[in-house]
Amino acid sequence: MKWEPVIGLEVHVQLLTRSKIFSGASANYGSQPNTQACAVDLGLPGVLPVMNENAARMAVKFGLAVDAVVNQRSAFARKNYFYPDLPKGYQISQYEMPIVGRGHLNIVVDGELKRIGITRAHLEEDAGKSLHEDFHGMTAIDLNRAGTPLVEIVSEPDMRSTKEAVAYLRKLHTMVRYLEICDGNMQEGSFRCDANVSVRPAGQAKLGTRTEVKNINSFRFVERAIGHEIERQIDILEEGGEIVQETRLYDPDKNETRPMRTKEEAHDYRYFPDPDLPPMAIDETFIEEIRQNLPELPDAKEQRFKDQYQLNEEHAHQLTQSRANADYFEATAGASRGAPKTVANWIVGDLSSRLNDENLDIGDSPISSRMLAGLIDRIEDNTISGKIAKEVFRAMWEGEGEADAVIENRGLKQITDTGEIEKIVDDILAKSRTQIEQYTSGQEKIFGYFIGQVMKATGGKANPKQVNEILKKKLRAHLFTDGP
Ligand code: ADP
Ligand code: MG
Repeated sequence: MKWEPVIGLEVHVQLLTRSKIFSGASANYGSQPNTQACAVDLGLPGVLPVMNENAARMAVKFGLAVDAVVNQRSAFARKNYFYPDLPKGYQISQYEMPIVGRGHLNIVVDGELKRIGITRAHLEEDAGKSLHEDFHGMTAIDLNRAGTPLVEIVSEPDMRSTKEAVAYLRKLHTMVRYLEICDGNMQEGSFRCDANVSVRPAGQAKLGTRTEVKNINSFRFVERAIGHEIERQIDILEEGGEIVQETRLYDPDKNETRPMRTKEEAHDYRYFPDPDLPPMAIDETFIEEIRQNLPELPDAKEQRFKDQYQLNEEHAHQLTQSRANADYFEATAGASRGAPKTVANWIVGDLSSRLNDENLDIGDSPISSRMLAGLIDRIEDNTISGKIAKEVFRAMWEGEGEADAVIENRGLKQITDTGEIEKIVDDILAKSRTQIEQYTSGQEKIFGYFIGQVMKATGGKANPKQVNEILKKKLRAHLFTDGP
């Protein structure tokens, strides 16, 4: 039987506010453990939470960016459960009246555009952290994170493959960073994903029983965890078994999911409206002001890159994955005589792969946009060939200075003097009787050999186009003089 996977994601996004969602304590990451959870975050008696306006602003910003309904009236509810990293015994969240309602996000998979529904996005507070490592059989609690603002973004069960799930998650990741509401750091837990997965016989309308996979904290794991869970479910169903609705934990070391709790053990959170917080009212002006200040969003930027710079789909998409990337491209294209396409090639190609290798963000690139523009200009004006440019690029990366300085210091200037190239070609041809015979007898592939010899003799500095022309001309002469 053919099975169709169905996936819905719940993503927790930590908001980049300076203080906590209901208190003035710092929301900074990485401080000394247990130094920044205040009485409000811990829910000690006699304190009252006060909503952080900036957190609401960021949630609205997100809502507008995904074309969602922004609810001018929303409410906070208590979600009750016990866990050592939740000393209050409840989490303040939103339940029946979330701040953001229905919206959507577009993804492109295998060239096809697909719209993924967003069910809702609600504001809530994060809990503290339980630390199991480094404490020899004990668990330590760090409450610094308690009260950090989150939006939880819930998708519709609209994804039909791991590829679509990854594309959706990437798009969401790009979006929250464009909006500057989250740093997107998955390792530090600022962007976390739970995946709901089910499978059904292809063509069946009714959804299958789902499991929820927790603890997925990188894009690679999302792909693996969901892929693994789909296979596990298909195996069970093919053997005539049934899927149990449950929460499973993904273990990246073993690449497997294992049960955490079943539906029967599921928490009854006893949600009820938080008596300490009045419903949140947002007026039209607040929303409009945010709308006016929205940045250019990824889809719009991608389209503009195609229109304005004539970039292809792939380049336009790659370059708009982050604002920093897009800005770097525009700065380089603006400063260089090279075609935008050439600039895009360098950024998506050499620069990106080098940044990847060294695990650097484009903002930390040792080659600035101005320096890259300088390099591209030297190819454009024929000072160096594309091949030599790669050497110059590496030298620039290692700190040897601007393109001009590297070309000068390393003596890489291209040989464009026709007379000089002709002389070199003559020398080589004089030593290549056998190869000339092969060439004249029809083995045209041997042409590459001559090119290689000239490049070797000139240290790669001869202008490739001229070498090509001159070689062709001289060999053609041989074709007629040495022929049978
Ligand atoms: P809960 O409140 O128990 O988390 P929801 O109905 O809110 O359940 O759904 C949570 C997530 O699960 C949503 O992202 C939704 O798209 C997804 N989901 C619901 N049903 C299925 C299913 N049968 N298969 C896959 N995902 C599903
Ligand atoms: Mg859930």
